[in-house]
Amino acid sequence: MTKKKKNQLWAHWGLFVFIVAIAGWLTSDIGPAGIAALSGLSFLWFLFQAPVPCGALNRGDVEQCRNNGRGVLRGCRIKQHQWQKLKAIVIRRRWRQISAELFPNATTSLASVGAVIALVSSLIGIVKTFIG
Ligand SMILES: [Zn+2]
Repeated sequence: MTKKKKNQLWAHWGLFVFIVAIAGWLTSDIGPAGIAALSGLSFLWFLFQAPVPCGALNRGDVEQCRNNGRGVLRGCRIKQHQWQKLKAIVIRRRWRQISAELFPNATTSLASVGAVIALVSSLIGIVKTFIG
């Protein structure tokens, strides 16, 4: 395997964790606590590590940034974009902008949906761990 391929594979570690977590529900091999931990990890990966296009809205809310980003929430290397989405959600609560930025294209949309599934899976895992 070439180094570049290895890096690409490594960049998707959260996806593998996610698949293992979901498979855990189907096979009940891992147990809810393990699934909660794995889902939590992949949730963070989707938000802060997943290789998706940035998608942050530029001035005037018309043009979307096409740089490669790191994670659904974090955006690309442009400093302004890095926390733009998080700020939009936490501080400004601009839902129209938020939905445009979280679902700008197929890749980012899938990552956003994946993040939601991972979060739900993690929460169910936690609840099941405590309730049994
Ligand atoms: Zn950007």
